[in-house]
Amino acid sequence: MTQYVLKLVSRCDLACDHCYVYEHPDQSWRRQPRMMAPATVTAVADRIAEHAAAHRLDVVRVVLHGGEPLLAGAARLDATAATLRRVIDPVVRLDLRMQSNGVLLTPATCDVLVAHDVKVGISLDGDRAANDRHRRHANGASSHRQVLRALSLLRSPAYRSSYAGILCTVDLANDPIRVYEALLAEEPPHVDFLLPHANWDSPPGRPDGVATPYADWLLAIHRRWLADGRPVPIRLLESLLSTASGHGSHSEAVGLGPADLVVVEADGTFEQVDSLKSAYDGAAATGLDVFRHGVDDAAAHPAIAVRQTGLAGLCATCRACPVVGHCGGGLYAHRYRAGNGFDNPSVYCPDLLKLVRVVTTTPVADGPARPTDSLSPRVLDDLAAGPGTAGSAEQLAAVHLALVRALLVALSERAAGDPVAADGWRLLVHLDEAHPDAVRTVLAHPFVRRWARRCRDGAAELSYLACVAAAAAVRARVRADLPVPVRDGVVSLPTLGALAVDAERGVVRLVTDDGDVRLAGRRVTADAGGDHVDGDPAREDGPDGWLPVRPVRVGGGRQLLLEDTDPHRDCYDLPVEPRLSGAAALRWTRQVERAVRRIDAEATGYGAGVRTLLRAVVPLRAEPTGRFRSAAAGTAFGAVAVTAVPDDATLAVLLVHEVQHLKLSAVLDVCDLFDRDDPRTLGVPWRDDPRPVEGVLHGVYAHLAVADVWRRRPGPAAEGHFRRYRAWTDGALDALLDLGVLTAAGERFARGMRTAVDGWS
Ligand code: SF4
Ligand code: SF4
Repeated sequence: MTQYVLKLVSRCDLACDHCYVYEHPDQSWRRQPRMMAPATVTAVADRIAEHAAAHRLDVVRVVLHGGEPLLAGAARLDATAATLRRVIDPVVRLDLRMQSNGVLLTPATCDVLVAHDVKVGISLDGDRAANDRHRRHANGASSHRQVLRALSLLRSPAYRSSYAGILCTVDLANDPIRVYEALLAEEPPHVDFLLPHANWDSPPGRPDGVATPYADWLLAIHRRWLADGRPVPIRLLESLLSTASGHGSHSEAVGLGPADLVVVEADGTFEQVDSLKSAYDGAAATGLDVFRHGVDDAAAHPAIAVRQTGLAGLCATCRACPVVGHCGGGLYAHRYRAGNGFDNPSVYCPDLLKLVRVVTTTPVADGPARPTDSLSPRVLDDLAAGPGTAGSAEQLAAVHLALVRALLVALSERAAGDPVAADGWRLLVHLDEAHPDAVRTVLAHPFVRRWARRCRDGAAELSYLACVAAAAAVRARVRADLPVPVRDGVVSLPTLGALAVDAERGVVRLVTDDGDVRLAGRRVTADAGGDHVDGDPAREDGPDGWLPVRPVRVGGGRQLLLEDTDPHRDCYDLPVEPRLSGAAALRWTRQVERAVRRIDAEATGYGAGVRTLLRAVVPLRAEPTGRFRSAAAGTAFGAVAVTAVPDDATLAVLLVHEVQHLKLSAVLDVCDLFDRDDPRTLGVPWRDDPRPVEGVLHGVYAHLAVADVWRRRPGPAAEGHFRRYRAWTDGALDALLDLGVLTAAGERFARGMRTAVDGWS
């Protein structure tokens, strides 16, 4: 037995009407103590350690559960986790987790979680409307804001290592795509969807007599998820893909793996899986407890033992089912019918059949991934080689766009309370239907994502949403009339430029029409409609107040922006240049154009990534020392910042270097390459201070590309640069591989880089 659910608290601060603990036939919680006593925690820990030692287990997972485990308070959680770690850790690796509604999560509790390496899953059913449908306080009040606050805490760098993911219960009344986007906006490492608890005596609702509404709901998400490039692992779907590729499901919801889980109630009694409480009163009981019985006794209990027999434990219908290897009869609790107990197919059988058939037969780009990967192995291998193809870069760009859309959907709820943002949101939704290309261009702009993230975290203004919508309207060449915010004397239109107005702050009415912009009767010749910024790279700012971003045409129908107006471009450690003169802008744009041509001419293969991913170059202020500097930020995906450099060859190397950082940041957005909890650092030859694993990975990936560029350049100086960057890459790569901190995907990525470097000789 490797998985244990500890009912640390038997009560809850929410009163969700779909809760299997309180709202279903089993009411045994009423007989439980409010909280698990410290002596019971010690007894449980002893039993788990004893069992792990006897069976020589490698790892056990313990989930602190409830009710609501946060009701225990930070001190009790601290003591509980400490006891579990003290007793179990010396015997077997302990994977300690908590499942919570998040309402009471505070920095103090997060400190405890991080201190004891506890990973937390938070329950959230979608956006506010979706979540409020069931997940309310006893007085009917919404829990949504409190849950978002908890997720915001878990996303913060200090606590991110404790963020396990989001658990969402399916409700057909909720729009599946809105739910998907709302969950994605919280940047969870994992998402899991749970079918509502039901059985043959209490079957799930099937509105309008639709045969497979649950499959249809999940398949809508499945389609979008595939189109987005699987930006986050969704456990149910990944489990089915895993069974399709001949592996286990790693889930009790589907697949034929033995049920390897036991529950310990607050009073120390062993129970079967929790979800059985939805079947009948006493369904989960075993009559055993941690004080008198060991885990082996619980495992031998007939009701638990039968669940370890795989196919043999299923009903005749399931055993004969063509998809039983994937479905496994579904969740045990969903098979119950009074009279013959669990000897039935799942009450969701038609949905499961359809879901399995579609998910396991739909071609997934580059084949099914392992459950922890959300980028396919082929794309990972391709990127690890260094340059990566345009196709792989496009996947990263698609993931970026999906994340931006998800962030905006999350913000849209708050927009309802802000008249300027609300108008912007309505316009954006309309444009997304009628002119999707224009909207896509604006949303893909690096600093729209940065603004959206800062806005979500309360660090930027929501009303900027109107600027995003207005920019899309200009690009779509449609007429729109809407209020927009003025900040620092300008109205900013992302991807287009800024419009100077006669006020430092406030709100003005902006009219867009056929690519032009009007303001209080004043016509401004933005003429920025269509696919391109129809601008002169050398244009000086005129009396009309329009400050257009200047285009950088890099060939292949692609165009970048020389970004010196966007207010959200200040995301680098280095100061950005203010608005450039026309002459300075012309020098910059021409040099970037020549540098990209040079990357092509050197035939390194890095041109594809640069063209596909790079959308903006941000001029940085020169350093007093005269040192050339460049930077990229994961939150501003698609932008590279750089100081002026004297020659095209140097700029080409800096662009390649920073685009590598963008690519790796995008990979890390959706794929765990290393254990984020591992605090170890490594000394690297390119810095004086030891670097965390993420920094080393970034350095290796960027230096690999720089070495690759230099090795193709002629002359002894180039040879010297090549040797230096190659040595840096080699040494740090070996150190990373030796450290044992990489995940399976990370090891694959690192070995791909190693193969590329070794191939150079
Ligand atoms: S938060 Fe969880 S335990 Fe509490 S009422 Fe809701 S579903 Fe039940
Ligand atoms: S699809 Fe239906 S019959 Fe087939 S294994 Fe699943 S529950 Fe059983």
